[in-house]
Amino acid sequence: MGFLCTVCGEQHDPLPMSYSVKAPLAVAGIPPEEFEQRVVYTVDQCVVDGKDFYLRGRIPIPVEGFEDPFIWGVWAEVSPKSFLLTTERWSTEGREQTPPFPGWLNTNIFPFGDTFNLEVRVHTQVVGRRPHFEVVDQEHPLAIEQSHGITLQRVQQIAEMILHDDD
Ligand SMILES: [Zn+2]
Repeated sequence: MGFLCTVCGEQHDPLPMSYSVKAPLAVAGIPPEEFEQRVVYTVDQCVVDGKDFYLRGRIPIPVEGFEDPFIWGVWAEVSPKSFLLTTERWSTEGREQTPPFPGWLNTNIFPFGDTFNLEVRVHTQVVGRRPHFEVVDQEHPLAIEQSHGITLQRVQQIAEMILHDDD
């Protein structure tokens, strides 16, 4: 089922319930010819220059009337210690007991402008699931949506903003 766009009046593809980026922002500034030498990369983890550590995670946003949350799939920089701990416990049963640790977003979440370095708490999930990021600053609009949830209309508004970014 598509949705009728309030910006252009056209019918668009089904309403996306998640958006994700494949790499942290830090990687975007690295020239392609240096990439292989400087970046170690999987779909979930990234290390730049052997000293900057990034994890891929999810910011789940409850949607009123829906069981599954809306998801921002993003990256956060974490300390070397947190990164190593996460790597050590990657396949360890019970790893979700790991106390939350700090991270800093390394993704700009378009409808919220500049979210680079926004502080999050990283909550490790069961084996096979990406960590959840919880925005620390409770005044931030993204934190407000994370704690209060959003409506399906808001999901559509986000889709329209993203689709018509170039207008
Ligand atoms: Zn449209």
